[in-house]
Parts: sequence; C-alpha cells; structure tokens
Amino acid sequence: MKRTGPGALYAARPDEGGDVAELTEEEQSIVDVVRQFVDNEVRPVARELERSDSYPHKLIELMKQMGIFGLAIPERLGGYQVSTSCYAAVTAELSRGWMSLAGAMGGHTVVAKLLVLFGTPVQQERYLRRMATGELRATMALTEPGGGSDLQAMQTTARREGDRYVVNGAKTWITNAQRADLIALLCKTDPDARPAHSGISILLAEKGSGLTVGDPLPKLGYKGVESCELFFEDFAVPADALLGGTEGHGFAQMMKGLEIGRIQVASRALGVAQAAFDDALGYAQLREAFGKPIWQHQSVGNYLADMATKITAARQLIRYAADRLDAGQRCDLEAGMAKLFASEMCMEVTLNAIRIHGGHGYSTEVDVERYFRDAPLMIVGEGTNEIQRNVIVRQLIRRGGIE
Ligand SMILES: Cc1cc2nc3c(=O)[nH]c(=O)nc-3n(C[C@H](O)[C@H](O)[C@H](O)COP(=O)(O)OP(=O)(O)OC[C@H]3O[C@@H](n4cnc5c(N)ncnc54)[C@H](O)[C@@H]3O)c2cc1C
Repeated sequence: MKRTGPGALYAARPDEGGDVAELTEEEQSIVDVVRQFVDNEVRPVARELERSDSYPHKLIELMKQMGIFGLAIPERLGGYQVSTSCYAAVTAELSRGWMSLAGAMGGHTVVAKLLVLFGTPVQQERYLRRMATGELRATMALTEPGGGSDLQAMQTTARREGDRYVVNGAKTWITNAQRADLIALLCKTDPDARPAHSGISILLAEKGSGLTVGDPLPKLGYKGVESCELFFEDFAVPADALLGGTEGHGFAQMMKGLEIGRIQVASRALGVAQAAFDDALGYAQLREAFGKPIWQHQSVGNYLADMATKITAARQLIRYAADRLDAGQRCDLEAGMAKLFASEMCMEVTLNAIRIHGGHGYSTEVDVERYFRDAPLMIVGEGTNEIQRNVIVRQLIRRGGIE
C-alpha cells in the first residue's frame, strides 16, 4: 500500500479494535481505508454491477491508486508489502463489498509471490514494479479442460526450440484472462519425465500471436470479472521467461504460490460470510413475527450465534496460516485448513442468512442472494475442498499429527 496513498483517498477512521487488532498501526489504517472504500464506493454499486455483469473499471482504478495490487510485493521491488494477515484482511473487506473485486487481485497476487520467491532478478525487475501499481495485471493458468485437480496429468506442453519455447494446449477458467497481460503458465517442458511433476515448469508468458483468449464463461456468480479459456497454438515464449531459469520446478513453485492463494480464497469466504451475517443480524432485529423481533425466536438466535462463532473461528485460522507463511514456515496444511473451513462456513452462513430473511432472501433485490451465489466458488477454486482434505491428511501423517 502506498505509504502516503490510502489516506489521500479517504481519511482513516479510528481504530475500532476487534478483527484486525494484531496488525501494526499502519496496517490497521490500511484496512480501515479499504473498509471505507468498500462502504462508500463498492457497496452502493455492487448489486447493479452484479446484475449487469459489468467490469468494474472505476473501482479497479481506485484499487490501483490505493496500491492494492502491490500488497505482496516488497518495497525494494516497487511494492507496498504488508503482512499476509493485513493482505487477508484487505481481501476480506473487498469481498464484504463485492467478492469479484478480490477476484481481480487474487491470481495477480499469486503471480507476484511466485516472482518474489522464485523469479530471477531480471524477471523481478521486468514485471514487479508495473505489477505493484496495477499497470501490469497478471493471472495464473493451471486448470485445463481435461481437469484441474490432477495437475500432473496436464496436457499443455512447451517444447524448447533454440532461444524460445513453443507452447501447445489449452487452459480453462482463467480469471482476468482478458485484462491480464502476464500469464504464469503451468506447462510440461518434459512430458515424458517421471515422476510427472519433475517435467512441469512455469512460463511467464506475455500475450502474443498463437494465444487466443476465449469469451468469458457464463457463471453462477462472481460476475464482472471474466473467466475464460486460453488456446495455445505454436505460441512462442522467449526461453528467458522460464520462472527461475531452471526447468522442472514449476509444480513445487506453484504449490508454494498457492499457499497465499488459499489464504486469499479463505479471506474471500470470510468477507462474504461477514456481509451475509451483518445483513442477517440487521434484518433479525427489524423483522417481527409473533409480536417480537425474529432474533428472539430461539432458532433464529441460534443461527446468528453459530454464524458469528464460525466466522470468528475462520478468521483465526486465516491468521494462523498467514503468520506461518510470514515466518517462512511451510503452511500448506494451515492454508488448506483455513480455506476448507472458511469456505464451508461461508456456504452455511450464506444459506442461513437467506433462511433468516425468509422470502425476502430469495429476492434479487437483496444482497444475500448474491452472497449465496458467490459462496460455492470458494469450495472449488484454488483446489477443491476434497483436494484440501487430501493435502491436510498427508501433512498430518508426515508431521505425526497437529502441531
Ligand atoms: C469461477 C472460477 C474461476 C477460476 N479461476 C481459475 C484461474 O484463474 N486459474 C486456474 O488455473 N483455474 C481457475 N479455476 C479452476 C479451478 O481451480 C478448478 O475448477 C478446480 O481446481 C477443480 O478442477 P476441475 O474443475 O477440473 O474439477 P476436477 O479436477 O475434474 O474435479 C471434479 C471433482 O472430483 C473431485 N476430485 C478430483 N480428484 C480428487 C481426488 N484425488 N480426491 C478427491 N476428490 C477428487 C474434485 O474435488 C471435484 O469434486 C477457476 C474455477 C472457477 C469455477
């Protein structure tokens, strides 16, 4: 976040404590500024943008000015590096307003992290400064029409020919594919390698001839940002675009990058659930049945109590994973737990928010129906929850239990 930037848009409001108490004072003020941005600029227009499935140009420009695209990039490389907990809190705030906004910076942040961790100095200089300002947007392309969970079975190949790679294959569901000019492309540089993951690499591919971006895929929710197919036909990428400069490390690099990706998806779920809870809590105090506010009926009160408890638990799991990531510790188990719990929690909370709204909850004129449509993305994206459970149990066996 720009050190002088956010305050220029909105004055930070006083520390309210609570959900971001462990952040530094500066990080707290960043989250406060984003919260005001969400309340003042996002929430008033989210329903209309969703309905029209419109790309949020103005909001994205404001996010660029606020430095949101550079939150995972160190200052020495032109960014506004904050702790992962702060990044998570910013993501949750954006998602509280409109989850699609967090989607616009999700894959971008994973690519930034990949470059910071594994990029050569030349690759870092080439991309990170422009990525920090949002001038250059990035996305990641893993999933293929034949499957997203079994990445080692991918079919997209990059054949080395002199000083370039020639890419053939297809990817699908690639979010921000039209707006992003840089693609972290997971592909096989050695399709015959065994084990298969040792033949996988990441290319930092810039758009050009031989790459076709398909039309946006129609979606249940997550409107406004596009998710598209990519088709590669003898698509040439310079050899120096190989992330880190050595073939065969792409699978491990991407698994590391997905740790922050999973924390991000968990934070999106947290923000959507928070919004659903806020609306439900408000409605339960206004709406009366049998002569009293509905929250006083035990069933409704129990829903609210459970919703708040699970939201708070998800927030703590996210912080736990974020702290481990920042401490340089392996956190695939922790990020997986945060993503698994928060996304399932979000499904439950958004459904219960509809229950509490009764018939109104089924109307497209209230926001809870949008939260309910957005929630399922988080159980699928960045590795399905079935895959998260596989990751978690493998780590439990390896570590001999919970630490
Ligand atoms: C809106 C949206 C945006 C997306 N954005 C991106 C993006 O920007 N970049 C990108 O690369 N991808 C993106 N994805 C793709 C997403 O990551 C994949 O959909 C996801 O990883 C699952 O892959 P799949 O859809 O091929 O399902 P499959 O892999 O076909 O899985 C189908 C089902 O089988 C289960 N399954 C598969 N293998 C196992 C196993 N070993 N154990 C237990 N269960 C298993 C899965 O959990 C799932 O329930 C996006 C998806 C959506 C919907």
